[in-house]
Amino acid sequence: MTERIDGHTLLISLIATPIRHSLSPTMHNEAFAKLGLDYAYMAFEVGNDELSDAVQGIRALGIRGSNVSMPNKQAIIPYLDELSPAAKLVGAVNTVTNKDGKGHLVGHVTDGTGAMRALKEEGVEVKDQIVTMTGAGGAGTAIAIQAALDGAKELRIFNINDQHYKNAEATVKKINDNTECTATLTDLSNQVAFKQSISESSIYIDATGVGMKPLQEESLINDPEVIRPDLVVFDVVYIPKETKLLKFAREHGAKKTINGLGMMLYQGAEAFKQFTGEDMPVDYIKELLF
Ligand code: NAD
Repeated sequence: MTERIDGHTLLISLIATPIRHSLSPTMHNEAFAKLGLDYAYMAFEVGNDELSDAVQGIRALGIRGSNVSMPNKQAIIPYLDELSPAAKLVGAVNTVTNKDGKGHLVGHVTDGTGAMRALKEEGVEVKDQIVTMTGAGGAGTAIAIQAALDGAKELRIFNINDQHYKNAEATVKKINDNTECTATLTDLSNQVAFKQSISESSIYIDATGVGMKPLQEESLINDPEVIRPDLVVFDVVYIPKETKLLKFAREHGAKKTINGLGMMLYQGAEAFKQFTGEDMPVDYIKELLF
């Protein structure tokens, strides 16, 4: 590191809280080092209260870009100069670029494209497919909108009746108004409809975080009859690598079970491309981190 960082090194930041557990700094710094790019990536504990100052800091210091995570993904939007079409549709940002350090900040969202690329790398295409999803928060919205933009035939979203339900309604409307995909929303308490929907789907996506601490002993699917040999099951969680849902699906013969590591890698790879113009050496990073 000391050999690498000098007066010319450009900074990329990550602003979120909590953030110390994140794999992103290691992922980006290893990729910079591997490609010999003169950048450094650092995480800063920033919540909504510090966000305005942090964005001013990005401009003032000429920080070349930043990743953004919870709780700032939506809150950062008013401080930016421009949004990519996908970020506008999703209503959230996880990557900010500051081209040439000139202070014009553009917000992008790479969670959805990252998830779609992760599926593709596993040989799974959403195009023309019926997809059942649970979760319509930050990750779920990005995935739902990108799946619709990528040609999914139907997206059937199931959500518990909590504060995210309204957002799920808005997401369904955006998809139906802006894409060829037909989206629906049903309360997850309607378990008959949930099971029926999965029986008609080729892909089930869990974007809730159930299966991760403190819900690591929980799964939204517990009925073996729901799992079929032609069903792909994708869980956005990557700690643990195999959630209770993925273990259950694998043990009951699902076609494929996919965790959130690929999504994490490819959302990072796309952000890396936005920051540097270069392709992240994903095979190298995979070997190093996974
Ligand atoms: P969020 O809080 O914005 O949304 C959570 C969603 O899950 C909401 O729709 C909520 O209604 C639903 N939900 C919450 N508890 C539930 C329960 N007990 N039963 C059913 N539904 C429930 O969170 P988020 O930012 O969208 O993150 C969700 C998960 O995705 C987290 O585990 C996060 O770590 C993961 N994530 C992974 C990646 C990746 O790259 N793999 C990227 C972003 C987020």
